[in-house]
Amino acid sequence: MSLYLKNATWIDWESLEFTKTHLRVDEGDAGLAFVDTVPASLETKGSGEQVIDCTGRYVTKSFACGHHHIYSALARGMPAPAAAPKNFHEILKYVWWVLDRSLTGNMIRASALVTALYCLKNGVTFVIDHHSSPLAAAGSLGIIAEALEEAGLSHLLCLELSDRDGTEAAEAGLEETEVFLEKHQGLVGLHASFTVGDALLNRAVSLAQKFGTGIHVHAAEDGVDEEHCLRDYGVRVMERYRDRGLLDLEKSIFAHCIHLSEEERNLVTASPAWVVQTPESNLNNAVGILNGRGLKRLMFGTDGMHSDMLRTAKTAFFLASQSGGGLSPPDAYLRFRNVHRYLAESGFSGDGDNNLVILKYDSPTPFCRDNFAGHFVYGLEARHVESVISGGRLVMDRGRVLTVNEEEVLAEAGEQAAALWKRMSGGRKSH
Ligand SMILES: [Zn+2]
Repeated sequence: MSLYLKNATWIDWESLEFTKTHLRVDEGDAGLAFVDTVPASLETKGSGEQVIDCTGRYVTKSFACGHHHIYSALARGMPAPAAAPKNFHEILKYVWWVLDRSLTGNMIRASALVTALYCLKNGVTFVIDHHSSPLAAAGSLGIIAEALEEAGLSHLLCLELSDRDGTEAAEAGLEETEVFLEKHQGLVGLHASFTVGDALLNRAVSLAQKFGTGIHVHAAEDGVDEEHCLRDYGVRVMERYRDRGLLDLEKSIFAHCIHLSEEERNLVTASPAWVVQTPESNLNNAVGILNGRGLKRLMFGTDGMHSDMLRTAKTAFFLASQSGGGLSPPDAYLRFRNVHRYLAESGFSGDGDNNLVILKYDSPTPFCRDNFAGHFVYGLEARHVESVISGGRLVMDRGRVLTVNEEEVLAEAGEQAAALWKRMSGGRKSH
């Protein structure tokens, strides 16, 4: 089945070259081709071909999220916790660890489907997720994978292992990770240094080595992570990760890295590992602003706040002057696209050339290669994403997701959210 994009203006996502052309998109490895002719009629029923008129539209590579938390999708609008958190550690204890302990399989599936819906609306076709459901670990990654694939998204999943819920939960998490990695591409997830003991850390690294993959972990998101590490292990977080072999795994991802010392930053830059910046979540938790200076392998994530990567890039751009790092519009765009480099260099599949967005961008000024970066930070928004192609398939057509029933997904999410909030308040009374 070929998909033809007629009269498109193609923007090469790497060179930023603008080309007026017809495009043919195919599933599988065949990917994307410039073509001189397209089938004459848009009505190609039965021919196995489909033509989309892209007159006045820009077409470019779709977007990807470097660090998401699908498990938090049902949190929006939930009742406030019984006690108001006074710091980052209390935000985790009173909000997120209550939520993730209350999740069931149905809630996880609803979270994944609704996140997939929002990803597509925002032009995102690949999600790197960091999942947590410590009391419902068995099968959880499989549920998420199936839901994302149903919606037409590609993924790189992991389960954040931790000692915070006891041995049984940690064992269940290790088992789920292993079962999942036997059949899917993925990473080995860890919560953060301050909730992971040495034994679990070592086993996670062994698992990553066994499957030839990396570790995906929060690092120095808040000062508490560094303080705990110095107190319990006598070293800083990145030194501990280096000593345990995490920095030798080239597919590893460290989320946040806000409170790293200069020496720790040097350790990261000298390693093949990647860093993810999640500016809105960092603002929300008041944990600080990443200084991205010198961090070459740096990409963006949303940390579960939303699924709009254009919004994240803008926030990082506007915040950079406050961190001492600075960020030019072209560098903001590079950081936005670095996730594709990470995926390609790591050999993960699902982010090929046949993943595209069709943009209806109503610019009031000339738009071209030379001023692309200015439009990227001041103009382009998710509302300009008109249609989305994932793996060569049209998955969103003029704002309407084709792969899943939007109303049903939202209705089910609403029901599961109500059930989750009820369980959360019940859990609170018993603690
Ligand atoms: Zn996170």
